[in-house]
Amino acid sequence: PGVAGTSRLSPHLHFGEIGPRQVWVAAQGAMAMGEAPHAEARRFLSEVGWREFNHTILFHNPQIQTQSFRPEFDGFGWRRDDAAFKAWTQGRTGYPIVDAGMRELWTTGFMHNRVRMIVASFLIKHLLIDWRQGEAWFWDTLVDADLASNVGNWQWVAGSGADAAPYFRIFNPITQGEKFDPRGVYVRRWVPELASLSDSVLHQPWMAHPSSPSARSYPRPIVEHGAARTRALEAYKSLKGN
Ligand SMILES: Cc1cc2nc3c(=O)[nH]c(=O)nc-3n(C[C@H](O)[C@H](O)[C@H](O)COP(=O)(O)OP(=O)(O)OC[C@H]3O[C@@H](n4cnc5c(N)ncnc54)[C@H](O)[C@@H]3O)c2cc1C
Repeated sequence: PGVAGTSRLSPHLHFGEIGPRQVWVAAQGAMAMGEAPHAEARRFLSEVGWREFNHTILFHNPQIQTQSFRPEFDGFGWRRDDAAFKAWTQGRTGYPIVDAGMRELWTTGFMHNRVRMIVASFLIKHLLIDWRQGEAWFWDTLVDADLASNVGNWQWVAGSGADAAPYFRIFNPITQGEKFDPRGVYVRRWVPELASLSDSVLHQPWMAHPSSPSARSYPRPIVEHGAARTRALEAYKSLKGN
């Protein structure tokens, strides 16, 4: 997330300034000419494939704009928690990688795909808030807001979509931060009040010495990871068919 390493084509694809076939042919051509490493180009093309997958699913299942692709999820006991939802939208959950992502979104209208997955998982699984609330916030704030990709990815994270992530995959926001932002470049940029913390506590600032200014100005976690994980697993187990 701290490196500008993706194409940033999503708004241009959404608004039709460039088409997926053009992208496909250009990437294939770059591979053939030896201008693009094969593994990376294939990875990129697979991302374009996810876009087409989501559009195909939505075309054939227009009801999934508002309903779960797997109907048993529509009986799920989502929580109504306006304070937690507001903290999530404002980047004040107390988990640095989540807050960095939400602040980047509000400031720029963009968020790296990995961080989108982390923040969506946090809303759905740690807070048990309906994926539709998160999807609506992304719809209002993303410059690449795209009905098929937004709905498809939110339902993928929730586990209610086509070929979705399994319900027991609950991202740990601490280890995800340590893995994908090990030097803290991304978190320090978007959560500047944590900038002076060492890498070892950056993704769990409550471990910093209580007298450090960061520990005082940054919120405590709104939910404890272990307890939230257990609660989510219990709630998901109650779904028929899981
Ligand atoms: C919860 C959530 C919501 C999302 N909402 C949207 C959305 O509203 N609009 C949107 O375009 N993408 C959405 N995505 C997918 C993805 O995050 C963005 O397409 C990607 O980050 C855009 O950056 P890029 O153009 O640099 O991507 P690159 O990595 O360069 O990928 C190239 C292109 O492939 C497509 N693509 C990449 N990943 C995905 C994916 N997971 N699903 C569908 N298409 C993909 C995009 O069109 C993208 O421009 C969402 C992902 C998540 C987890």
